Amino acid sequence: MSYMFRESGPLKPGALIGILGGGQLGRMTALAAKQMGYRIAVLDPDADAPAMQVADRKFVAKYTDRDAARDLARACDVVTYEFENIDAETAEAVADLKQLHPSDGVLRITQHRVREKEAMRASGVATAPFRPVTSQADLREAVSEVGLPAVIKTATSGYDGKGQVVIQEESQVFAAYEQLKRLSSMHIFERYVPFKMEISVIVGRDASGRTLAFPASENIHVDSILDVSIAPARVGRAVADDARGLASGIAEHLGLIGLLAVEMFVTKDDELLVNELAPRPHNSGHYTIDACRTSQFQQLVRILTGLPMGAVEMPRPAAMVNLLGDVWLDSKTEPDWAGALSLPGVSLHLYGKKEPKRGRKMGHLTAVAADIEVALARVLEARERASRRSRSAR
Ligand code: AMP
Repeated sequence: MSYMFRESGPLKPGALIGILGGGQLGRMTALAAKQMGYRIAVLDPDADAPAMQVADRKFVAKYTDRDAARDLARACDVVTYEFENIDAETAEAVADLKQLHPSDGVLRITQHRVREKEAMRASGVATAPFRPVTSQADLREAVSEVGLPAVIKTATSGYDGKGQVVIQEESQVFAAYEQLKRLSSMHIFERYVPFKMEISVIVGRDASGRTLAFPASENIHVDSILDVSIAPARVGRAVADDARGLASGIAEHLGLIGLLAVEMFVTKDDELLVNELAPRPHNSGHYTIDACRTSQFQQLVRILTGLPMGAVEMPRPAAMVNLLGDVWLDSKTEPDWAGALSLPGVSLHLYGKKEPKRGRKMGHLTAVAADIEVALARVLEARERASRRSRSAR
């Protein structure tokens, strides 16, 4: 079912915004919404999940619980989701009752790597050569057509590098496929891109079809998890402009209302190859909270409520580092936040997660400075100071 977008004008403060998923992206969206006087309902199986802690109404239920999702939809004025592995049928059940943005159709595309890459191609952007794989015969064909080195990825439920294997030689191909076959019935075989940089752009698109892209950020991953984002990305003006244009083009092609994060590789010839889409706020856009006139979270709230999008200018450059559970582990001592925050321009964001685990995203630090290299050095120093105490207490 489709709805006219709010003929009666923007949602009034006090209106209830529903979020499917209770993680940190939901929490930061909720905090931005509450800043503007909106109320928040969250659906998550964990009553103490990061977004649940700041929710006005809690729906404690599995993501596959359609009845609970319908209850949330009935109570809310508009609904969004904060991660792609929300069950597509649950999203559809919500969309039948209330406006869901981005739509369940967009969710279905972006939660499946093959559909996602095909949509990118259809929107006219370049990607690494790829082939869908559902059998050993497909795989053999993919190897000869796409070539090696390559990456084989599960079509569904992969994130932070899970569900993918890099293949250098033909002898590794079938073992890698056997390993991944258990996780998904379809796979994507992709040419390995020897990129010089990874960047991402978050673009907002409102119900009138207007798009506004945040500055590109440069992303450095460690063990397939985002470690550092630097904004603006240290690329030439033309590449930065292309990246923003390309992200806007994909959002338009998808007819998306909300936020779209677009991850891309920059090749040594400054060509942009799009790798992944996420129809939601993104870890690489956390810098926008402290550095941009409007944060990615506030932008989403403005779009969902029918308010005009805010300016995305970034008066000063910024760098963000993730704080994984590793910073806490092996110590009974809280990391040294005072030490980290004694550096100028540094701010701390923690997500309220009780149990630090290796690789678990517990929070982030952002540094804003007049100079991008200073921002980067400060944020790295801040994390080092935070973790120094844990290490010396071991
Ligand atoms: P993804 O889950 O597709 O975002 O991939 C996670 C990370 O794996 C990316 O951020 C890249 O660092 C790396 N990666 C994924 N696909 C490729 C590829 N085709 N070529 C090179 N590196 C890749």
